[in-house]
Amino acid sequence: MKLHHWFFPPLCYQCRQKSDNGQLLCDYCWQSLPYLNPDHLCQRCGLILTTVGTACGHCLQKSFAFDRCVPMLRYTSECAPLITRLKFNGQLLLADLLGYLLAEYLSQVYQNCPLPQVIIPIPLHRKRLWKRGFNQSVELSRPLSALLNIPLDIDLLSKSRNIVAQSSLDAQKRMANVRNVFNVATHTFTHVALLDDVVTTGATVNEAAKALKVSGVKQVDVWCIARTH
Ligand SMILES: [Zn+2]
Ligand SMILES: [Zn+2]
Repeated sequence: MKLHHWFFPPLCYQCRQKSDNGQLLCDYCWQSLPYLNPDHLCQRCGLILTTVGTACGHCLQKSFAFDRCVPMLRYTSECAPLITRLKFNGQLLLADLLGYLLAEYLSQVYQNCPLPQVIIPIPLHRKRLWKRGFNQSVELSRPLSALLNIPLDIDLLSKSRNIVAQSSLDAQKRMANVRNVFNVATHTFTHVALLDDVVTTGATVNEAAKALKVSGVKQVDVWCIARTH
């Protein structure tokens, strides 16, 4: 036991109970993380499949601009507080934890296929970045980049205007809200990973993927900590 534990018993980041395992989460909270089984997801959009096959009903009819979406967790009450505290309370240690877990998860998923050449976090508009002080997607990408040994490019994609938070809009309005909002700088990448904290309708990552495809990218993989279902 480290000396400071004698004076400040460590508390689990999730349940705030005393934890002696020396990590951010207690053993119970580690085991409660709602991991998704990649074999049970639509291979395109990352939604949980309710029928046999590799694509969901939506993806069989209409395709997203991205090629695949790989979510790690199901967005439930077990993982939502971790993301909320990272995003709105600025607990950046959580970015290290979640980024580390995602790196471990992705190295399994990509065992038999090539990893993207670069990680591109979904950008915040400079006004929101200034207000929040950090971009959670960039912070999540840092440990990922280091652990997976893939460069991180935070300048390639930018937002041309400050938009209303997607979380305040319904599915239809989300699409209109993000239309043509992304700019792409000159680059030579053909296979990229787009990183977002949470994917809900997919409108944001789809719009970013569209812009990247126009700029010459052939394959866009979307990585996210959690996917709503
Ligand atoms: Zn706990
Ligand atoms: Zn799908």
